[in-house]
Amino acid sequence: MTTSVLVCGAVFDGVSEEITGPKQILVRDGLIAEIGTAVSRPDGAELVDLSERTVSPGFIDTHVHLTMDASNLALQTLESSAAKALKGLHLAQQYLRYGFTTLRDLGSMDPEFPTIDLRDAINADLVPGPRLFVAPHVISASGGHGDMSGFYASRWDIPVSAVADGVTEIRRTVRREHAHGADWIKTANAGGYFSVGDDPASGTWFDDEMQALCAAARLVGLPVAVHTGAAEACKQAIRCGARSLEHAYLIDEEAIDMAARSGVYVVPTMQMTREDLAQLQAGTLPCQAVWKFSRDSKAINAAQQLLAASEAKVAYGTDCGMFPFSHGILEFQAMVEAGLSPVRALRAATSVGAELLGRNDLGVLEPGVCADIVAMPGNPLDDIACTAGVDFVMRTGVVHRHPGQDPTF
Ligand SMILES: [Zn+2]
Repeated sequence: MTTSVLVCGAVFDGVSEEITGPKQILVRDGLIAEIGTAVSRPDGAELVDLSERTVSPGFIDTHVHLTMDASNLALQTLESSAAKALKGLHLAQQYLRYGFTTLRDLGSMDPEFPTIDLRDAINADLVPGPRLFVAPHVISASGGHGDMSGFYASRWDIPVSAVADGVTEIRRTVRREHAHGADWIKTANAGGYFSVGDDPASGTWFDDEMQALCAAARLVGLPVAVHTGAAEACKQAIRCGARSLEHAYLIDEEAIDMAARSGVYVVPTMQMTREDLAQLQAGTLPCQAVWKFSRDSKAINAAQQLLAASEAKVAYGTDCGMFPFSHGILEFQAMVEAGLSPVRALRAATSVGAELLGRNDLGVLEPGVCADIVAMPGNPLDDIACTAGVDFVMRTGVVHRHPGQDPTF
């Protein structure tokens, strides 16, 4: 493996309030070996000039759907799992060029496990791509956010969603996800905007069902990510032991306090709200979403501002797949527009994202951690939009994008 010395103009280390520099980073065997004003230069080390750039840990998007194409869900249900995995690989590689070196995929709409296969192929170095953490399916009550049966065609009547009702079925479904190699369990305890026949303002699991899901996940050692909306549903998820609240569209002050006190992460997917609003204004929002989103859009923005003003741990997540991956980088700007400081937005996509994933070797720049490193012109603390200008991407010591050169994908 190549040894490199990165000559950095400025460095955001993933944690500090300030950007410091100039600094140098020695990368060896995929890890950061040294970082300081001057590092050793082993024979044959490749020198990378980032002296005109701000360097950051690779970005972590904790909420994507690599195998769900929202614009084409109906037809996609007729595709094979292999087709979805191949398209997902393409999207993951494209996303890497923006600086996303780690992704958490929160559910496919497929009877099999295409995102697990994709993760394993990348881990085995069969194909290059970002590091993946995977919740294979969205475990949903019948009629809940993840229940697509009846709405879309499915091939050979194979169910496209992981529907379970009652404690026994829920336990069985969690065990099945675990047995197939899940890193996370994903569920929805409130409705969604784009799904038919459910409502984000209402819950979908009874307490005993949500408790059973979280207890089953705990038993097999997996953390739980919960698509949630109504404030009561946010509280239910926290009480039952969820590790992350996804969207939390209508979270209130009490639920935010509960999350902050219990160390539960919130992934507010703020860019998606902007995407939905743009679609509402353009008249292209699907009809099942129009009445719910028009009713809630102000309340969602107010909830996001409450979150920005709180001490809760906010992690970067986009829901890309539901909208184009090329817009995922805009979550930084959406977060700052909602009131997060630029440094908190940067931490959300680095150290806080890594903490959510339980990986202290990611999301920071210090000796001994994985060499996932990106660089951009400008100072993102002065102008968060600089994050959209990433033009150097290294994942585990391998450079996928060099300033002035085409990305490797
Ligand atoms: Zn999602």
